[in-house]
Amino acid sequence: MTDKIKHHLNDALLMGYSSGILPEAFNLMVAAHLSLCDECRARSESFDALGGEILDHGNACDVAPLRGSSFEATLALIDGGPVNETPAPAMPDAVLPKPLRDYVGGDLDAIRWKSIGMGVKQAILPTSKTATARLLLIPAGMAMPDHGHRGTEMTMVLQGAFQDEDGYFARGDVEIADSDLHHTPVADIHEDCICLAVTDAPLQFNGLIPKIAQRFLRI
Ligand code: ZN
Ligand code: ZN
Repeated sequence: MTDKIKHHLNDALLMGYSSGILPEAFNLMVAAHLSLCDECRARSESFDALGGEILDHGNACDVAPLRGSSFEATLALIDGGPVNETPAPAMPDAVLPKPLRDYVGGDLDAIRWKSIGMGVKQAILPTSKTATARLLLIPAGMAMPDHGHRGTEMTMVLQGAFQDEDGYFARGDVEIADSDLHHTPVADIHEDCICLAVTDAPLQFNGLIPKIAQRFLRI
């Protein structure tokens, strides 16, 4: 699965994750990607080690050292649970990565979708308010409204795929969009596309109707 992922997290995100400074919604995105991507997980572990080195050699009397398996520890912190709790049963067929299942309370069946029109559904996940995390379901072949971004929008595909001006994104791929990117994502025709989308500022839609809808839907 991992070798198919083409669009990865950048170093800034991995460093932010290692140092624990990301908003909860972005942490969740990183944790979800790391659970599907060996390549980014290896890079993340090297940042964890680097952080530990800096703390060990710096004047760090007041700073708690990073633990060995920082990835597991961070996931456990996101869970709000202890580090050494009994591992959840493996769900090889699950669509949602483990960190997301913890937020949703299960896999796809447990998602409480709300329709936002044209067959598109969303479920906002309970994270801190600094950034928003939502699951999106875009029917096969459907285009999302053309939009730009004020802040950063990260979208990771969990099922199906989408195509936009930046490329083709399938399971595990992450698109990182900022104010430079103006795009119209279109879901692949073969399967409904389910994504995790994280934003730190409202999107900028071009049409009037989406603009009005946006106020109600917190997009
Ligand atoms: Zn990756
Ligand atoms: Zn976008």
